[in-house]
Amino acid sequence: MIYYKTEEEIEFIRQSCLLVCKALAEVGRQIRPGISGKEIDETAETVIRDHGAKPGFKGLYGFPATLCVSVNEHVVHGIPTGDQVFADGDIVSVDCGVFMNGFFGDSAFTFPLGDVSEEVMELCRVTNTSLYLGIEQAIAGNRLGDIGFAIQNYVEKEHGYGVVRDLVGHGIGRELHEDPQVQNFGKRGRGVKLKEGLTIAIEPMVNLGRKEVWTSKDGWTVKAKDLKPSAHYEHTVAVAKGEAMILSDHQLIVDAIAGNPNVKPVGVKAVNA
Ligand code: MG
Ligand code: MG
Repeated sequence: MIYYKTEEEIEFIRQSCLLVCKALAEVGRQIRPGISGKEIDETAETVIRDHGAKPGFKGLYGFPATLCVSVNEHVVHGIPTGDQVFADGDIVSVDCGVFMNGFFGDSAFTFPLGDVSEEVMELCRVTNTSLYLGIEQAIAGNRLGDIGFAIQNYVEKEHGYGVVRDLVGHGIGRELHEDPQVQNFGKRGRGVKLKEGLTIAIEPMVNLGRKEVWTSKDGWTVKAKDLKPSAHYEHTVAVAKGEAMILSDHQLIVDAIAGNPNVKPVGVKAVNA
């Protein structure tokens, strides 16, 4: 069942998304080699609770933390712990959700720390760009498959990376995960017709190597089977006529990491570094 949102409801989702990005920006100011997933998780939770909101992931399906923190070959759903200490050259994918005023916000960003190889920086840039190519298709009258096709074509055909199939984007609103599923792969002109008021999280997960993943023994962390790095960027958007409304704001994060010498820049759109 797809719930189409009113303008007022979209505004609530935007407020939740902005708080997500404020939390991710604070993470962007703090993150560096030598600190742990637990430390950035506490930072994000403090930002969220200081605004009178709740972490959107904590407790949901039994997930124990505010952030999903997934390093290098970890694709998504990594649990932040004190033992998870970041090293120079890591890429750290941080996914955050907020629940406020009855609505969820959801956004993710991969932070390249220190001396990341050019090969892996390119993975981050291409994944980030693919997100915007997907968003360009999130307009009224198009179909869901247009989004997936745009992402997959750019990532796999043009760059030879692997788009993860097992995890997908989603509708979002009063629930974190609503219908429809938003695949990062697909065929043009197929799937649900996009209408104004549809709010979705678009979130390509892209593997440097093969697309296959498996879930590790902790029951949460999804890893690339070939153990090569994986990147993840996510926006919540509202389908509209002509151009999608991006409800989350990665500029806040990009500005934050511009002041952090430990993070290599990844731009907001296709133009990077
Ligand atoms: Mg997310
Ligand atoms: Mg999501």
